[in-house]
Amino acid sequence: MSVRECVERVQARIRAAAEAAGRDSAGITLVAATKVQTSETIREAIAAGITCCGENRVQEFNAHWKDNAYEGAKVHFIGHLQRNKVKYLVGKVDLIESVDSLPLLDAIENRAEKLGVVQDILIEVNVGGEASKSGVEPEQLPALLEMAAKLPGVRVRGLMAIPPAAQEPGGNLEYFRRMYQLFVDMREKIVDNKNTMDILSMGMSGDFEDAIACGATQVRVGTALFGKRPPMRSNG
Ligand SMILES: *Cc1c(COP(=O)(O)O)cnc(C)c1O
Repeated sequence: MSVRECVERVQARIRAAAEAAGRDSAGITLVAATKVQTSETIREAIAAGITCCGENRVQEFNAHWKDNAYEGAKVHFIGHLQRNKVKYLVGKVDLIESVDSLPLLDAIENRAEKLGVVQDILIEVNVGGEASKSGVEPEQLPALLEMAAKLPGVRVRGLMAIPPAAQEPGGNLEYFRRMYQLFVDMREKIVDNKNTMDILSMGMSGDFEDAIACGATQVRVGTALFGKRPPMRSNG
């Protein structure tokens, strides 16, 4: 199947899932997870209707950026981010989805101030409580959000989560429900961020319909758009 056919198929599935949940699909953004894809494939996806690309690795982002591969679409950073690489992203990407610590938040703030920009971010939540995963614990969320509210160079737009790999269909519903509840709670509690907490990023190829049923405003899809990826290192 061509990239175009895959994009159309995934878009149709998103519309169907939104309809089944009584939601407007216009409120759900499909983020194409473009890790390991070439600039050419990214251009193909954008030509087929992709409006937002999600990159995992700074190195790949830099290469595609130089290539102008993202022209016509937004770019999000969705991978694990090291503080010393913040400088490559701030002011360039539309959203950094994977902010998972106070030091990282500070590094983004410093860079944003230096450039005179406001960087949109999401806080990544370790909703499954897995030792191997990044993301803040749900209990740490209020403190981190309060801190972020004081930083002029960052604007928290919402939350992101990568739940544990589901063992059976529907296996992540409980995590998606928990994330939605956290999202609602934080939006209400954290007055300073009230007007900007509008993104809940969750759901991937195997479970984005469930995520939409639970209130995701953004799904990150790779395999269903581009096919199976070769095995890769987990980080970078
Ligand atoms: C790769 C990736 C995705 C997409 O995963 P698929 O299962 O291929 O759809 C989503 N989110 C993040 C953070 C990823 O790294």
